[in-house]
Amino acid sequence: MDAATETRPQIFLLPGRDKRLGRGHPWVYSNEVKIDADAKAVPPGTVVTLHRVDGKRLGVASFNPHALICARLYDLDYKLEIDREFFISRLWRALNMREKFYDAPFYRLAHADADGLPGIVIDRLGDTVVCQLNTAGADLMTEPLLEALDEVIKPACVILRGDRRSRQQEGLEPFQRIAKGTATGPVEGLEDKLRFLADVQDGQKTGWFFDQRDNRLFLAGLVEDANVLDVFCYEGGFALQAALAGARRTMGIDSSQAALDLAAENAKLNGLEEKCSWRRFEAFAALEEYASADRTFDVVVADPPAFAKSKGNLKAGLRGYRKLARMAAAVVKPGGFLMLCSCSHHVDPAAFAAENAAGLNAAGRTGRILRSAGAGPDHPVHPNLPESAYLKSILYQLD
Ligand code: SAH
Repeated sequence: MDAATETRPQIFLLPGRDKRLGRGHPWVYSNEVKIDADAKAVPPGTVVTLHRVDGKRLGVASFNPHALICARLYDLDYKLEIDREFFISRLWRALNMREKFYDAPFYRLAHADADGLPGIVIDRLGDTVVCQLNTAGADLMTEPLLEALDEVIKPACVILRGDRRSRQQEGLEPFQRIAKGTATGPVEGLEDKLRFLADVQDGQKTGWFFDQRDNRLFLAGLVEDANVLDVFCYEGGFALQAALAGARRTMGIDSSQAALDLAAENAKLNGLEEKCSWRRFEAFAALEEYASADRTFDVVVADPPAFAKSKGNLKAGLRGYRKLARMAAAVVKPGGFLMLCSCSHHVDPAAFAAENAAGLNAAGRTGRILRSAGAGPDHPVHPNLPESAYLKSILYQLD
């Protein structure tokens, strides 16, 4: 054993509680670990070696004695040092995979556990990168991570964002910091042929929802001369790709004026402002209004914020998806298309499909599923962490 692994805190799993790790799951929960005075004294986020009760070393992880998910595995090889070199190698692996799929440097570069980088999400917009640091482990590793980014992609600007809810569960304060360069307003990106501006500092998540790229492009294949409604449009991703692909008109609905302002700018940037309208409105109220005015659309997409943000409000979340399916279906023309999406980690694909089916039925509509999908390959899924496949998108044709 080398010096670093010797001096690390050693954390012991309780008898029989190593089964989840043994099955390949990368997390350890606090009721699976011996939390004695030594373990409690470990500063949140520290790199530790995990042991089975008999002393067998199981891997290297970040450890937060105050979090429900108290250990997140970096690697099964406990001898691995978690330092600049480690992050360089993980980032190269992540980058090489993205470069197989994308010609231009606009994508999610790192997707947490699925890229072997627990707690760390990195979106890349050319020379600008936005890192979400979601755990104590991620906070503690910021310096080696930044050094590794400099080595692998040499960004001009690095924005660190710590505004996800998951930080609360780790006992961390929200923060935002420009770690490198200067940030002056929205950053321009390219999604296939669409130019877009993303609000990397004040926008939601990291400023652009890269996860919907493939779904936007798939939907864009159906919109020739169509009248398209994009509910929960944010900065306009679906509506803009549809307009670029030949939709006759698009209407984007969102409750955020800042998001709609950027959506309108995005339309201009692509010469699409004649076709695109944006409306600040509550989504369900807008759908209600269209339905009672018998206003229908050839193509409708609804990509709401997570309705089930925790296991505790799963039931209410599921009801929300059912209601949205019912109300969105009501404004789809016969023969038209409806894409329904969910980004709730806690709602699995089968449950989402079932709620949608019930909603369509309640609207008196039937039809067929044409495609069920998730996010693109820049949002890889950890094979033993099904929740990391958070995005669901189902495309229906309705009779
Ligand atoms: N479809 C978008 C992403 C949507 S994110 C894309 O492709 O990029 C969810 C959006 O829903 C946010 O922009 C948020 O402002 C908006 N929103 C949340 N609650 C809403 C409500 N009740 N009515 C309308 N918009 C809402």
